[in-house]
Amino acid sequence: MPISIRTIHDQLELKGKRVLVRVDFNLPMDENGKITDTTRLEATEPTIRYLIQKEARVILLSHLGRPKPNEHDERLKMDEVAKTFSQIFKIPIKKMDKCFGKEVDQAITNLKNGEVILLENTRFHCEEEKNDPQFTKTLASYGDLFVNDAFGAAHRAHSSNVGIADFLPTYAGFLLEKEIKVLTALLETPERPLVFLVGGAKIDTKIGVLEHFLGKADTVLVGGGLANTFIHASGYDVGNSLCEKDKENLAKRLMAECVDFHERFLIPTDVIVSDKIAEDAKTFTLAIENVPKDLKILDIGPKTIEKYLQIIQKAKTVVWNGPPGLYEFTPFARGTKSIAKGLSNLQTTTILGGGDTVDAIRKFGHSFKEFSHVSTGGGAMLEFLEGKELPGVKIVTMAK
Ligand code: ADP
Ligand code: MG
Repeated sequence: MPISIRTIHDQLELKGKRVLVRVDFNLPMDENGKITDTTRLEATEPTIRYLIQKEARVILLSHLGRPKPNEHDERLKMDEVAKTFSQIFKIPIKKMDKCFGKEVDQAITNLKNGEVILLENTRFHCEEEKNDPQFTKTLASYGDLFVNDAFGAAHRAHSSNVGIADFLPTYAGFLLEKEIKVLTALLETPERPLVFLVGGAKIDTKIGVLEHFLGKADTVLVGGGLANTFIHASGYDVGNSLCEKDKENLAKRLMAECVDFHERFLIPTDVIVSDKIAEDAKTFTLAIENVPKDLKILDIGPKTIEKYLQIIQKAKTVVWNGPPGLYEFTPFARGTKSIAKGLSNLQTTTILGGGDTVDAIRKFGHSFKEFSHVSTGGGAMLEFLEGKELPGVKIVTMAK
């Protein structure tokens, strides 16, 4: 069904308005609390600059990590995020130590037009994930309008990204709008041939989208840990590899449903194997028929890479989610590196998403400009592509 999105462009009067903006500042951090990737933060820039330019009073809300309920884990406070925000955007930001209470009330009352404040991690309160009406109402009381720009959280119906919409006029920020438009066009009017390349660790997280694309894509290319289950289900030994034997019936069913299976659904024909996962691991390239009992499959092999790249080169649209190998270690990175390179700077529409997929393209030196669209959603993108209605999207759309 065609959808229309309510965006901040539709709200003409922003001057002096308190605009609550739900952003996705859930940035990856290392064990010392140092931010390792600022992609999601940078992606919110158009919305935030627009609101400042329109002289709105901007109140930012986000979750960060997975704190234990009602435990204020110091490492998950938003201080580093606020610092990074002002360094990157050169915009002053006031960071609050709570997400509600007297000090927040006061700071918002004093907030001037064009100024920005950031509330503390919303997940410090267990009410957030329960979409608790009282908590939601308190958050909503800080705004005259609500802008949702957190695509990465759109598959969850929590207080700060969905609940608030019950209390305030709600609009999509520019990032959310772009994600919805690109992914809707991909589902509804893809230029063909459409190729779906899926990798990553487990079948479980990808099965929905895999099934959906089997009916939609011209070709599905499988790599990564999840390919092992299909390899095993096809009757080959996968040695010591990651393999979900309990998902084998599912894998068999999917393969059986695909009547023209061998042309449309490809699994690796050769693989990189090793006995250990380490930087100095010794590797072998083997046909899938020859994987011995004591070794692990950790990447797709050169023939598979070549075949997949040939198919990609003939495509008009390529969607890629999940690295085809254990790219974190150099001996198993070649498949992921080659796919990233093969997809970069194509005339084709290239759509990428997934935390590790995006991490991999950065790691291998690609910039986002080399692809048509790099989604800020991992789980959210997968659910959207499965055809599910995401609660964070529903609140900004109207059926036509
Ligand atoms: P994304 O975050 O892009 O959606 P996933 O989280 O599904 O991707 O999977 C990424 C992980 O899958 C990476 O840590 C990668 O090392 C791992 N992986 C890829 N291939 C294999 C394999 N053959 N065996 C084990 N792990 C793998
Ligand atoms: Mg991941």
